[in-house]
Amino acid sequence: MLSIRSSKEQLNALLFDVVRESQDGFSIFDQDHMLIFCNDRFAGHFGLSVEQTEGLTFTEILRKSYLSGDGLYIENGDIEGFITKVSMDFEDVSFKAFEHLTVDGSWIRVSRFINSDGFIFLYSTDITNFKNTESQLRLALSDVEKLASTDLLTGISNRRHFFELAEIEFERSRRYEHRLSLLALDIDYFKRINDNYGHRTGDQVLLALTECCRKLLRSSDIFSRQGGEEFLILLPETELVDASLLAERIRQAVSELRVSYGDDVISLTTSIGLSELSDNTETLDQLMNHADKALYRAKEAGRNRSEIWF
Ligand code: GH3
Ligand code: MG
Ligand code: MG
Repeated sequence: MLSIRSSKEQLNALLFDVVRESQDGFSIFDQDHMLIFCNDRFAGHFGLSVEQTEGLTFTEILRKSYLSGDGLYIENGDIEGFITKVSMDFEDVSFKAFEHLTVDGSWIRVSRFINSDGFIFLYSTDITNFKNTESQLRLALSDVEKLASTDLLTGISNRRHFFELAEIEFERSRRYEHRLSLLALDIDYFKRINDNYGHRTGDQVLLALTECCRKLLRSSDIFSRQGGEEFLILLPETELVDASLLAERIRQAVSELRVSYGDDVISLTTSIGLSELSDNTETLDQLMNHADKALYRAKEAGRNRSEIWF
């Protein structure tokens, strides 16, 4: 039968074994930040052995870790800058943990706990798997976001994304009284292309037209496929005269496009309607509606032409 005292001693010894053998790092620093204990794992996270950490403060461990070439990865080798930052964090009562990359490419998280006597306990753990999963999730999320905003056939913005970007541009242009023009483009007699050459060739034609337009646009222009063979192009900082010149350049370039189909060559034309933000334009919908009406007039007037809303 163990006495209470000896069972406590035994328990302490057992706990000490657990800490010493742990796959996570444990360390204790006194009130002057001097190390009084650490296990192998803690020293290992800093690229050191327990013996190498003896009698050192936390900042000295960081410096030695850097010099070992095997501990924490320090960006641009700015170890003193890093130490200044970590020391400041160390003094900050709200500081609880930092995550850091090591030279071998793994990630560690170092957490801090201070007891009522001012002893500082640091706990380090390998979070490489967690970090890898996190970065995979982030990549997957950005893929999903891209998919949700992209027209799958042409790779340009889809209708949903167009509205997102265009609303921002519309409000900005209205507030700061900047010029803003819109082109609504529709392929003429596209149904015939599908009927004569098949839907897949129709898709090739849509791709060729997208590429042709893209070459004539600026990176700040918002180019989108609204569906079918209808496209909208929002032109920030562009007045109607310049938008009209661009519309004609697009119309001309598309009419010169040739898409081969076996021995056949497919040509196509487009009709374009234009509108511009004015004092009377209250909403993006209105601007779109005006471009649509101008497009309708271009169709009525015989197609392969651009018309301005008035
Ligand atoms: P208009 O000159 O009056 O514009 O005549 P149109 O034939 O171009 O107009 P309409 O709206 O009647 O035809 C549009 C066609 O676009 C009908 C549809 O089959 C085709 N279409 C819609 N989406 C796609 C697509 O993703 N791929 C292909 N290949 N065709 C599509
Ligand atoms: Mg059409
Ligand atoms: Mg159409």
